[in-house]
Amino acid sequence: MKTIGILTSGGDAPGMNAAIRAVTRTALQKGMTVKGIYKGFNGLVKPTKDSESIKSLEIRSVSDIMQKGGTMLFTARCPEFVPIEGVRKGVQTCKENGIEGVVVIGGDGSFRGARDLSNEGVPCIAIPATIDNDIPSTGYTIGFDTALNTAMELIDKLRDTAQSHDRCSVVEVMGRRAGDIALHTGIACGATSILTAENDSYTVEHAINRIKSTKTGGKHHFIIVVSEGFTAARHIDANMIAKQIQDDTGVESRATILGHVQRGGTPTLRDRVVASRFGYRAVELLSESKGNMVVGLNRNSIVEYEINEALEMKKNLDEELYKIAETISF
Ligand code: ADP
Repeated sequence: MKTIGILTSGGDAPGMNAAIRAVTRTALQKGMTVKGIYKGFNGLVKPTKDSESIKSLEIRSVSDIMQKGGTMLFTARCPEFVPIEGVRKGVQTCKENGIEGVVVIGGDGSFRGARDLSNEGVPCIAIPATIDNDIPSTGYTIGFDTALNTAMELIDKLRDTAQSHDRCSVVEVMGRRAGDIALHTGIACGATSILTAENDSYTVEHAINRIKSTKTGGKHHFIIVVSEGFTAARHIDANMIAKQIQDDTGVESRATILGHVQRGGTPTLRDRVVASRFGYRAVELLSESKGNMVVGLNRNSIVEYEINEALEMKKNLDEELYKIAETISF
């Protein structure tokens, strides 16, 4: 393979730049040419003047990006790429630009795009990047650690004010399809209760009971961490939960939705290192003429699966982490 393309797609995640850098430099070291494809699959389906959508990347094109959140290639959703005509248009754009394989960095929607492009004759390797850690085929997705640290620092600040006023702070964190951010930040911030869509035993009533019992034990302020998936599944919001807690326990309660602030910021060391490892491996696979695969992390080793196999996997929240949270948050 002489020329590869690289794109970022779907939601952005801190560490995507580190993956772009690793892919670019590994490929250049192997003597390949690297083309950056801009704005996700849009760069393939509806290229503007081709100088705007697809640009050659050199060693220095990816200097000084490692420490930046977001993605230098921009990212987008591209509904035009979902039907087969869109994918074929993408194949044609690849041919016109000499692109023989593509590294796709994104979530599992982006994996589907990579699979379809592979099936139409342009081998792709997908790299999991999403702050939610919601991809079953990998123990870790690029951006997760940075988002956790951002959420943790913000919840620590909320604790200061909750503590000063003897309040309860209800904090909604991101994670529509996975409660990982809630579970991990909940443990790290000493949450009294952690509510996720995956664990049915942890309800608002459960949180209220824990507030009451820990209050009897001398606790004066409370953090309740709620995942986005929990509020979406129950058609409630953090404000409603705070009101319910206040009405039932008498503890003054405030709600905060952390939102998109969790998606930005300087990637942590973990995100930079994992992104570099994924990027390096993705290029190795393409140079071995492999495609239609996704890389991942399993117990700190790099693994790879066929994309369809990866998409069929199921993910569960770590029950033991829940048990730990329950045991030590009194
Ligand atoms: P993420 O990759 O973060 O999960 P999306 O689910 O929005 O984000 O997917 C990102 C992009 O991947 C979509 O906008 C589309 O271009 C492409 N994509 C998603 N699903 C498919 C599919 N079934 N077939 C082809 N491309 C897809």
